[in-house]
Amino acid sequence: MEPGRTSHCLLRKLPGVDHILEIAKKDPFFAHIPRTVLVRSIRSIIEDLREIILKQSQSISQETLSDEHVLNSVKEHVKQLLTPNLRSLINATGIVVHTNLGRSLLASEALDHLAKIGGRYSNLEYDLAAGGRGSRYSAVEDILCELCGSQAAMVVNNNAAAVLLCLETIAKGKEVIISRGELVEIGGSFRIPDVMEKSGGILREVGTTNRTHLKDYEDAIGNDTALILKVHRSNYSVVGFTSEVSLKELVRLGEKYHIPVMEDLGSGTLIDFSKYGLLQEPTVQESVGTGADVVTFSGDKLLGGPQAGIIAGKKEIIEKINKNPLTRALRIDKLTLAALEITLRLYRDERKAISAIPTLRLLTLSSESIELRAKDLQNRLEAIDDPRLHLIRMDCASRSGGGALPLLDLPSKCIGVTVNGMSANEIESAMRENQPPIIGRIENDRFVMDLRTVQEDEITIIQSAFENMLKGIGT
Ligand SMILES: *Cc1c(COP(=O)(O)O)cnc(C)c1O
Repeated sequence: MEPGRTSHCLLRKLPGVDHILEIAKKDPFFAHIPRTVLVRSIRSIIEDLREIILKQSQSISQETLSDEHVLNSVKEHVKQLLTPNLRSLINATGIVVHTNLGRSLLASEALDHLAKIGGRYSNLEYDLAAGGRGSRYSAVEDILCELCGSQAAMVVNNNAAAVLLCLETIAKGKEVIISRGELVEIGGSFRIPDVMEKSGGILREVGTTNRTHLKDYEDAIGNDTALILKVHRSNYSVVGFTSEVSLKELVRLGEKYHIPVMEDLGSGTLIDFSKYGLLQEPTVQESVGTGADVVTFSGDKLLGGPQAGIIAGKKEIIEKINKNPLTRALRIDKLTLAALEITLRLYRDERKAISAIPTLRLLTLSSESIELRAKDLQNRLEAIDDPRLHLIRMDCASRSGGGALPLLDLPSKCIGVTVNGMSANEIESAMRENQPPIIGRIENDRFVMDLRTVQEDEITIIQSAFENMLKGIGT
């Protein structure tokens, strides 16, 4: 499109990059800004203005093209460029293991160790006793065997990698029997049939979506069968007219035909949550104790550690997996290993684990303590004393997330906010754009914050965010 007359006129008013650069050099704000960053910002701002003018979609005033205005935009842009993209935020969703928000928070003990190991040389792959090359996995194998009750154990990048690696090692080119009710998609494109295909294993589905019987598995066993696989359904449940074969029965079947049995526990937990009034999830110890040859689970779901995939099982299988060249490609990083080792050590004392590992603490918080935090936030927001702000404290339900306890509502407390002259969407985006961002949800035209996942020292930050937002919309 040919630029119109006004566009022509405005384009001529648009300052040049060199011109703005000269002015910026005199501004103390830019004194320590690297030149490449400054030039990139100036180019980007001027380019944006040029596009707006050419599109003529937005009316643009000459004032916007003034040196001062352009320079201010450049300042904002530079600030953005110098802020890390990955930043911390406040999770007011109530979802404890929130995959989009970083899943598990690390225990401070784990963080300390991670910082120490990251800043120094370490015995990552060095055997101090022998004075030679050692194994990366030896740091956690012993504690994993102790906690899981397994003969051997190892860790890789995440549980998706663990499943892929196990299938590739045990069943490449051979058949893997799995119930049709367990062919799950976890989200983020982890789908059992796809992972199976990538591993080279051949999917042998048995049973139906809602009902699978032992006979279905047994009938499918043949010369090509390499593995019987059980997968935790994670984020969905089959209810009603259902039937599934227990791990115990599968283990017996596997023993009869000399076929290994693997269980992908997904989240996996070392703690029996039913003791804390939550629904029961099968524990890793139960799975191993039942006789599964190999069990895999995540490091950063219910375990509450860093992203990792843990493989626990019989010595013979773990040794084979260890020798698989794919292991090298999926190996765990030393920072992760440092955090994981300390997280696992905390489990030696269950009470300690519950209080020190944030994921466990948040899942087992009492309603009373969440209520106290909700009252605290309510008081803080009321103290802003703005008649446009309306608050309501309500019962709500948090979710564990992470594909664990999928149907369980955890009773929680939340604060719902409405503001005269603002929609819930506008409040939500103002909170999302706050520094640090505050992520809540919209429910019945209210902005709602679930206090289960909000930490004590975050309450005043939320208060300031609302103060600033209300100032921003004037009176
Ligand atoms: C979450 C999950 C995975 C993937 O684990 P990541 O640690 O996210 O890679 C695999 N299988 C099941 C059953 C899961 O729930």
